[in-house]
Amino acid sequence: MEKVLVSACLLGAEVRYDGRAKTFEHPILTAWQKEGRLISLCTEMAAGLPTPRAPAELAPGTTADAILDGQGAIFEQTGRDVTTEFIKGAYLALAAAHQHSCRFALLTDGSPSCGSTKVYSGDFSGQTHSGEGVVSARLRAAGVQVFAPDHIADLARALEEAENRPYRA
Ligand code: SF4
Repeated sequence: MEKVLVSACLLGAEVRYDGRAKTFEHPILTAWQKEGRLISLCTEMAAGLPTPRAPAELAPGTTADAILDGQGAIFEQTGRDVTTEFIKGAYLALAAAHQHSCRFALLTDGSPSCGSTKVYSGDFSGQTHSGEGVVSARLRAAGVQVFAPDHIADLARALEEAENRPYRA
């Protein structure tokens, strides 16, 4: 069975910066959970950051790829540089994907770690732009297909194709 790496906060874990979850209730996700298909991970906590913690954003004008190349930074709203912790989290996600042979991931969009289609602008104004977090970037560079919750049907289709089953969603 193809396993799916999932942001822990989508599964109800209270691990976000504000100490809350971002529970994603969807029948497809529920079915996968019952099948034992899901690998839950919060990379920021795995990297040693506390919950709650200050919100963090990619520095303005940088990208996740640049950060992973050592050319950018992630800052908390307090000004604290947390780049090292976030990069560590990205590599922990890669290790988990390898450990469980995950070729697919479902990650919380907008996060500087887990974002897969958008991230916040870096000035803590609440504005977003297209982009990805460092976990998504690292996983994608390794060939893992990363999906946002809004695209779970696309992930279901990709999974069924990978398992050579007809798409039923
Ligand atoms: Fe959720 Fe990912 Fe942020 Fe952890 S790092 S709280 S799993 S979005």
